[in-house]
Amino acid sequence: MDEVKGTENMHCCSFDECQFRRITTSDGRVEVRASVPKGGFSKLQEPKVKWRRIGDAVFHRDCWDLVVKTCRMRSKKRAPFVMSAAEKTLVKEALKTAEFHDSLDTLANEASRIADLIKNAEHCVAFTGAGISTSAGIGDYRGKSGKWTEEDRGNLNTEILNQGDEPKQKKARTEDVSGTHGNVDNDDDSDNGKHDNGVDDGVPYEELRPTYTHEALCKLVQLGLIKHIISQNGDGLHGLSGIPSTNLSELHGNVFIEKCEKCGTRYERPFYVLDDHASLYYEELNDLGATTVKKPRHAKRCDLCGLCHRTSRKCKRKGCKGHLIDSIINFRDNLEEDIFHTAQEHAAKCDLMLCLGTTMTVSPANELVEMGKQPLRIVVCNRQKTDVDKLCVSQDKKGIQLGSRVFGDCDSLLSQLMQHLMNHDDLRKWEMEQTVRMKAYDKKRTKS
Ligand SMILES: [Zn+2]
Ligand SMILES: [Zn+2]
Ligand SMILES: [Zn+2]
Repeated sequence: MDEVKGTENMHCCSFDECQFRRITTSDGRVEVRASVPKGGFSKLQEPKVKWRRIGDAVFHRDCWDLVVKTCRMRSKKRAPFVMSAAEKTLVKEALKTAEFHDSLDTLANEASRIADLIKNAEHCVAFTGAGISTSAGIGDYRGKSGKWTEEDRGNLNTEILNQGDEPKQKKARTEDVSGTHGNVDNDDDSDNGKHDNGVDDGVPYEELRPTYTHEALCKLVQLGLIKHIISQNGDGLHGLSGIPSTNLSELHGNVFIEKCEKCGTRYERPFYVLDDHASLYYEELNDLGATTVKKPRHAKRCDLCGLCHRTSRKCKRKGCKGHLIDSIINFRDNLEEDIFHTAQEHAAKCDLMLCLGTTMTVSPANELVEMGKQPLRIVVCNRQKTDVDKLCVSQDKKGIQLGSRVFGDCDSLLSQLMQHLMNHDDLRKWEMEQTVRMKAYDKKRTKS
């Protein structure tokens, strides 16, 4: 088979029977990834998808829909074309990694509509997830090369290809970037609420800087257009961008904040506060029953997540000397009540919910999305399909669509939104000041 190679063909449709071949920015596109079968893709019988060597494929939206439809058809007679069982298995696997991008026209139209929604909203709240930090150097947790997907692929290689089965479902895991041994990497192993699985190839948290989306959200809060930010991210980037803590609910904690176990005093640090060494001690003990890691003196096992929250530093308040603990919510930990309560209050008042870079699958955080006042307008921008999509495009009594569903990168959407929400000169000035802001961020972050 003629396998498409290299990135020069990135925007050539992978569907063998595509009439157009080239995918341009005027087309909606879908990017997928599947595991390379034993013997490579060349062993596939009459492939309908030109899989790349590493298992990637990119399609016109219509072409992908046709491939999926055919893959799901039981009757061969009615199918538009014949697909081998082996390839159907690959398509079913790829379906779970599908990342969607709207055409430029669609993006522009939706941006204009969303800007009007923001202008007319009484209490607009933004709900953010890992997807808004991907351009800051953090891997998303879902999608084509997301953390969870990579892990699934490991399983898929051995199990799924033979069975055509569903990969194991991941449930109730924090969608933030909590606890990865000081580094932000692309693996996730929090099945047991673990901090790390031993791969350290990411960017240290101290080196991450706010993205266009973080900065735009901060500006919109300053302009009073957004009233509150609810974030599932633990990377501290909203705070770094300048959003006051009163306008921010970090549901899953913040790797730069530690607090006193005894008196509750909070300390914001310019460095990553987690003690991964102590957590590694418990992690190995929990998993293997033994460890060669020396137990730090301050170490204490958390009853909920099984790891250590103590950071090795102590409270400086007079006469307290309590142990400081990190604020990160690991798998099985409870959310901080005050923080969740504030988030609930804003979610209940909300008439426009902007969901950015999240698939809204982590509970109880995702329960906040639909809590608002009716008729609630929900906007979702990310690259994956979500359970909320139908609500975004549902209509009011007059048949007018309430919210908006944008497939693509948050930075692209926000840069268009800003053009509608700020006048030309102010926007230009604000964008020019980015270098100044960057220097201020550098000052707020140092290595421990
Ligand atoms: Zn096509
Ligand atoms: Zn204290
Ligand atoms: Zn815990």
